[in-house]
Amino acid sequence: MALTGVEIFKMLPKTNCKKCGQPTCLAFAMKLAQRQASLDQCPDVSEDAKKKLGEASAPPVRPMTIGTGDRAAKLGEETVLFRHEKKFVNPAAIALAIKDTDPDAEISNKIDDVLASEIDRVGQKLRIDAIALMDESGDAGKLEALAKTVAGKAPAVAAIVCTTNPDAAEAALKHFSGKNAVLYGANKDNLEAMAGKAKAAKAILGIAAASLDELADLTEKAKGLGIEDMVIDSGARKAGEILRDNTLIRRGAIKKNIKAVGYPSINFVTRDDSILEALLAGVAIAKYGSIVVVGSAEKWKNLALFSLRQNIYTDPQVPMQVKQDIYKIGEPGPEAPFLVTTNFSLTYFIVSGEVENSKVPARLAVLDSEGLSVLTAWAAGKFTASKIAQFVKESGIENDLKHRELIIPGYVAILSGAIEDKLEGWKITVGPREANALPAFLKSRG
Ligand code: SF4
Repeated sequence: MALTGVEIFKMLPKTNCKKCGQPTCLAFAMKLAQRQASLDQCPDVSEDAKKKLGEASAPPVRPMTIGTGDRAAKLGEETVLFRHEKKFVNPAAIALAIKDTDPDAEISNKIDDVLASEIDRVGQKLRIDAIALMDESGDAGKLEALAKTVAGKAPAVAAIVCTTNPDAAEAALKHFSGKNAVLYGANKDNLEAMAGKAKAAKAILGIAAASLDELADLTEKAKGLGIEDMVIDSGARKAGEILRDNTLIRRGAIKKNIKAVGYPSINFVTRDDSILEALLAGVAIAKYGSIVVVGSAEKWKNLALFSLRQNIYTDPQVPMQVKQDIYKIGEPGPEAPFLVTTNFSLTYFIVSGEVENSKVPARLAVLDSEGLSVLTAWAAGKFTASKIAQFVKESGIENDLKHRELIIPGYVAILSGAIEDKLEGWKITVGPREANALPAFLKSRG
């Protein structure tokens, strides 16, 4: 069970030295109990207390990493049930299933789909993170051949080897040595042998159970066999089952501190009907899936799932923002239009995208408004005539421009007079309210 704040307090130095950033040891103990602080923030805690408190301060969902290098995906480490309580930490990894019975051309196309899946959205790289190699044939040779192809064509992509056959597992895993692969398929009949193969290959063990009770039983047994890193599957396949089991697993780990379910979940949502599959994947992403295995990777589906995942896994307490600067779009000359907006990422990427669509090279001034959108920033006093005028003056942009015209967002038309007063010699033009009207607006100016 988790320790209470008072139990933790008894093990702290009780000097109230404040080095941890808290006014007292008791305040720090309370933060630790709520998992809002980390033990290493207290430099004076004794080794003995460290050992005892280590477990209490460890995240209830065990952290682990699949894959290596730039494409590695972190899993687990979650500490809350709801995003607004703090934040969700590690986004669900999306894996594309490839069967060892698929024709060679299809295998090759699917690997290409994974490699070409990366998109840039609001400044973040989003992609399919892993390939799940499915033992459909029951033939160890076929699974190994698939592993060889995947490892050869996509060496940087995380691999999830899915089989219940320990010999096939061993043959396939040797192609992913040192790459934090997952061996999925350990069940009540093969646990010991599969645990041995995962250990030998330094792979994460994927537990495949038929119920939550069986799952908890299997993880305990695997732990007894020396396995630390596991991903867990309760057997849920329908939307309601995924929602129910993933929620019970997360709640058990976080609220009840049940160690046997304190691992990242893996959900298989593969369906022939791609729309249904997208919906199921959406359920798994929204409700605590750490790895979501899909059967196809159409661009529309990727975009929907990536956007959903990104929306859920951004920190609600930290607005997404870009750096204050003047950004060039295209190759603007000294006569090119000069626009201003705020530094909320979504605003920046939408406005810059529409300016790009217009094919009119331009300069876009992005003012630090603490990550707020135009109207909100204006209402909060962070996108004011004084701030805009000061930014323009200090930016040195006058050296790059032949004209003195600044285009402001239509939503803050009210600021035009005040900016003109503060920016001597400048003409302020009111642009459209919505960014999607920018291409027509810019083109109409000849
Ligand atoms: Fe107490 Fe450690 Fe914080 Fe100092 S740094 S106040 S000893 S918890």
